[in-house]
Amino acid sequence: MENTLHIIGGGLAGSEAAFQAAEAGVQVILHEMRPKVETFAHQSGDFAEMVCSNSFRSDDSEQNAVGLLHWEMREANGLIMRMAGEHRLPAGGALAVDREAFARGVSEVIRNHPNITIEEGEITELPTDGNWIIATGPLTSGALGESIARETGAESLAFFDAIAPIVYFDSVNMDVAWMQSRYDKGATEEEQKAYLNCPMTKDQYEGFIDALLEADKAEFHEGETAKYFDGCLPIEVMAERGRETLRFGPMKPVGLTNEHDPENKAYAVVQLRRDNTLGTLYNIVGFQTKMKYGAQQDVFRMIPGLEDASFARLGGIHRNTFMNSPTLLDDQMRLKSRPNLRFAGQITGVEGYVESAAMGLLAGRLAAAEIQGKTLETPPLNSAMGALIHHITGGADAKTFQPMNVNFGLFQPVDGLKGGRRGRKDRYKAYTDRAKEAWSAWLNS
Ligand SMILES: Cc1cc2nc3c(=O)[nH]c(=O)nc-3n(C[C@H](O)[C@H](O)[C@H](O)COP(=O)(O)OP(=O)(O)OC[C@H]3O[C@@H](n4cnc5c(N)ncnc54)[C@H](O)[C@@H]3O)c2cc1C
Repeated sequence: MENTLHIIGGGLAGSEAAFQAAEAGVQVILHEMRPKVETFAHQSGDFAEMVCSNSFRSDDSEQNAVGLLHWEMREANGLIMRMAGEHRLPAGGALAVDREAFARGVSEVIRNHPNITIEEGEITELPTDGNWIIATGPLTSGALGESIARETGAESLAFFDAIAPIVYFDSVNMDVAWMQSRYDKGATEEEQKAYLNCPMTKDQYEGFIDALLEADKAEFHEGETAKYFDGCLPIEVMAERGRETLRFGPMKPVGLTNEHDPENKAYAVVQLRRDNTLGTLYNIVGFQTKMKYGAQQDVFRMIPGLEDASFARLGGIHRNTFMNSPTLLDDQMRLKSRPNLRFAGQITGVEGYVESAAMGLLAGRLAAAEIQGKTLETPPLNSAMGALIHHITGGADAKTFQPMNVNFGLFQPVDGLKGGRRGRKDRYKAYTDRAKEAWSAWLNS
């Protein structure tokens, strides 16, 4: 059975890897521990479940690196992007989805694929023989995590992330809040009114910051060594960095006009993004938190418009397992010490749904090619996929390695390090044009 590819983990990365390899004609066995063994964050037995936000972020493939990654995945017949398109919700320029319908859609394709077999159950040890992709994600089960740590010699594979709360729409006071996307972004009126906005005066903002700083926070046994990823800082940690930090971050008031009081500019604005097709749930954008549940309700109800908010889910903190890929993986995503094992997804030190799925896509294609005796080069550095894989398998400084989102900083500069004379828009367009050409050439190679 050496032509079989085993994949551990049917998340964003594992599902995409399975689909890509199966489409290439390889027999895939997908091992998934849910629903037999649960994680604290997943709610279903579906594949590719999005555990927190329902957004794949910007869909702009000309001006945004993650939008470019969407484009590259679509060009490569990516299952995650196809399903995201089928279950898309209005969200301004972002690609947001109905998460349940999306995961069900991915599961249906995976379960019905003639080249994919599902095996339910937890894998507790790194396998010794055969071709494997390990895509067990940030919540890799404890036993497997220990086995990986033993093989890689790492003291620890974990750090911490936080998730944002979700509010019932019908509990929001629409006499105070209003619907608008920042700068009215979006092609249709629905897109231009995709977000719920809650305005704050200066006094309300100052009171809110005081409450955040004073609120009870959850304690962790591992707390002393807890490290946060900068892109997912809890709001109270942001507030500790400076009273104005939130007003220049998730609570920035720019590009928004309060329809109840158009003459007065809000001092700060809290935005909520639609979380399901029905429009009954909204998540508070950027409000990941480690406040205790009781404190969260008190503090979030201080937000004008959310005085009587009911919460479908409160925020929380979670473990994030990732490895030191720059020292451990080769540029084909194989473990240097055991090249029959590939790694993909968030465990490799990329951050986010899109990046994880992208690394699944790549691992699936690379593994399939190897099994079929073909040579598939690592994607070119100028593509988004290539920039990301290069970063995690050698470009990043191994000593300070932290999970990474795709961004133009990972690309070779188009105009030299100083950015040349072009404006930012032109420069980003040059990056994305160059990337599209490179990616198309790689796909056709
Ligand atoms: C609480 C939380 C909130 C997050 N919020 C966001 C967010 O808002 N936006 C964002 O872009 N990203 C977010 N992330 C990161 C997000 O999880 C990843 O971006 C994405 O899900 C990673 O994809 P993956 O396939 O690597 O892992 P996952 O999607 O987690 O898939 C891993 C799969 O492996 C299975 N598994 C684990 N161990 C074993 C085992 N030993 N045997 C068999 N199966 C196993 C799991 O059940 C799971 O199905 C969050 C992560 C967590 C934990």
